[in-house]
Amino acid sequence: MATKITIPVSGMHCAACQSRVQTALAKTPGVADANVNLMLNNATVTYDERAVKPDALVDAIRSTGYDATLPSADTTAFEEQTRQDEAHEREVRELTRKTVVSLAIAALTMVLPMVVMGGALPWILFALTTVVVGWSGRHFYTRAWRAFRHHTADMNTLIAVGTGAAYVYSVIATFAPGFFVQHGVKPELYYEAVAAIIGLILLGNTFEARAKRQTTTALRALADLQPKTVRVLRDLQEVEIPIEALERGDVFVVRPGERIAADGEVVSGSSAVDESMLTGESMPVAKQKGDRVAGGTINRTGALKVRATTLGADSALARIVKLMRDAQGTRAPIQNLADRVSRVFVPVVISIAIATFVVWFVVAGAPVRALVAAISVLIIACPCAMGLAVPTALMVASGKGAQLGVLIKGGEALQRAHEIDVVVLDKTGTVTAGAPTVVDLVMVPRVAPAGVPSLADAASATYPPSAGTQVPASDDPRRSAPRAVALADLDEVAVLALAAGVESLSEHPLADAIVRAAAERGIKRADVREFESRTGRGAVARDAAGRRIAVGSARLMREIGADVSELEARAEELARRARTPVYVAIDDAVVAVLGIADPIKPTSRDAIAALKEMGLEVIMLTGDARDTADAIAREAGVDRVIAEVLPEEKVAVIRRLQSGQWEGGSGGVPPPTTHSPLVVAMVGDGINDAPALAQADVGIAIGTGTDIAIEAADITLMRGDLRAAVDAIALARRTMRTMRQNLFWAFVYNVFGIPLAALGMLSPVIASGAMAFSSVSVVGNSLRLRGFRGA
Ligand code: ADP
Ligand code: MG
Repeated sequence: MATKITIPVSGMHCAACQSRVQTALAKTPGVADANVNLMLNNATVTYDERAVKPDALVDAIRSTGYDATLPSADTTAFEEQTRQDEAHEREVRELTRKTVVSLAIAALTMVLPMVVMGGALPWILFALTTVVVGWSGRHFYTRAWRAFRHHTADMNTLIAVGTGAAYVYSVIATFAPGFFVQHGVKPELYYEAVAAIIGLILLGNTFEARAKRQTTTALRALADLQPKTVRVLRDLQEVEIPIEALERGDVFVVRPGERIAADGEVVSGSSAVDESMLTGESMPVAKQKGDRVAGGTINRTGALKVRATTLGADSALARIVKLMRDAQGTRAPIQNLADRVSRVFVPVVISIAIATFVVWFVVAGAPVRALVAAISVLIIACPCAMGLAVPTALMVASGKGAQLGVLIKGGEALQRAHEIDVVVLDKTGTVTAGAPTVVDLVMVPRVAPAGVPSLADAASATYPPSAGTQVPASDDPRRSAPRAVALADLDEVAVLALAAGVESLSEHPLADAIVRAAAERGIKRADVREFESRTGRGAVARDAAGRRIAVGSARLMREIGADVSELEARAEELARRARTPVYVAIDDAVVAVLGIADPIKPTSRDAIAALKEMGLEVIMLTGDARDTADAIAREAGVDRVIAEVLPEEKVAVIRRLQSGQWEGGSGGVPPPTTHSPLVVAMVGDGINDAPALAQADVGIAIGTGTDIAIEAADITLMRGDLRAAVDAIALARRTMRTMRQNLFWAFVYNVFGIPLAALGMLSPVIASGAMAFSSVSVVGNSLRLRGFRGA
């Protein structure tokens, strides 16, 4: 059994440290996959429980010189987040202290030689710099030593060797100047350089730590949404208890303006609830008895009593926080580039530094310059910025996404989302509101059998007789229990009763519309048995009289051998007005067609226009009738429609689109293929579209604030609004651009800095300043993503 565990790791400070831990874990027998995250300071390991114990994983990490402890089993995402924030906080405080001390000492070591003369100066400088080396910068040396013991080298090695060489040189010049004089070299002191380099690198690390802390602010804000206490009703008394003491089934009170403490169901009261923190949707949502509310959302106007349904780690908020944390623990494929480079980087840099030293020493005969140039090479080459380039951008982007109601599953999903060529939209519930209503009922025209003229009249009518746009109202005089009727005396009431009877057993939104249409008019549903769902077509069952009642598409009618010709023209007319025609047949004879309207969401048109604006091919995919689909597509501004597709065929359609094959259908021009395979995104409601979502390169599921357990999707939209899909893709594009910029800046410093340093044109102090600046600018660039605005 593959098990996944996330282990906090401390002491990692660069891409090389990360890859060392990762390699050690990957080499451990029983480990299937290991992913070490430098930003979150943890390792996510997939391993075989039978082959390796978690303790062994911790040991594997410790063997690399970093520390790790197993997480306690029952910490929620909130607690983990809080713990991590506190650790961050401590790190920032400590770094700040060390930075201030070393920069102050660096300044002193520069000023003192101007005021203090004589033999005591070297001793004072030695004492001051030793504080910096031994305390402020101590960790560079201990970590470098640990790396050395493991036969590796990382950024600490570069810093330790660089400053260490300068320090040792100065110490010898202080205590045994004769050694240099003997060899004809001036005994110079580099104490101020050592202090300044360490001070500046620490300053860079401090800025970096502060900036890193900001990359998680969105996540921290989410975690902070969870109220700490809740007022529950116990024996008719309101008592305030800590949130941890709340139990499932407890009823708690929410006053206006308060945050709702936990997920639950409203048992009394009504109010408007601001769910924007979970969904990104700014309009408050009306809530009344029976409605579900989510913990962390704000109750605006009324007072509510809520029964707690989901608690702790399963609550919507905790799941979002967990999802975000997991996402941030993943890697974007672009990271591999940075990793590959930083792995070979340190050895290469050390070789260049040695070469620099040798050339200056042997060729130019300048031992002091040789040392200074080699130190500059070591310092400027530190690959810290490279390790930050991708993860910082991913952190900020996923936090930003959460604020906009867009949950991105990780770096890989994000990277694929920026490459999307084609966006396939499910029609029902994605483009349309997904709450269909029955608006037409057309009966088959029938010649009345002799002797029952009145019934014949009724049955041949379109209801209402005048317009044909409404179904009988509840005060209809003919309202009655369903009767076993001959075809001839069938009326709209009986048709609805039968259709609702069949559909009451179906899950489909259309079925729901038919059941509601009957209920709203007070029509009692017919009892049915032998129900059989025909997925993507409709449903079939037998009524009390044993007749076979079929409700569904023209395709279903064809399948059962029912002739639709008498109503075909009417059905087409309905379809052209964007109604879904649903036939009703009794014993394989079509008796009526219902027109079911599901209007497009008000935001769909704008969102689709925005997608096209972004250069994406937009395709609507539906199982609905072609004319209906075309009418909806026209309204929504979609030019390409693939209609009358059975649910199981949707996967194949996606697959064909990926290989660049365009389906036939209206306006059937193939999308301009610039490359193959095409990157296809599918936007669907996640429940019945799961296979297609999984097949698509990027599955975008429309969830809701309270239902986010969507496994098949790469991206989950927390508001049922297509504009969130636009935001998701735009954010992905912007983030990838940021990552590329970051990598560029991280590389550029080294590519230009190393030759300059080797030529002796860059002093070690400037090199350390530049290196610090490169890390800070990379993190700063990622933070600019916080300014991203949604559609
Ligand atoms: P979509 O692609 O819009 O989600 P489906 O594949 O679920 O559509 O259904 C396709 C068509 O099948 C519907 O437009 C309808 O004509 C018919 N259909 C499916 N289920 C039912 C049902 N329970 N009752 C009536 N018609 C149905
Ligand atoms: Mg659907």
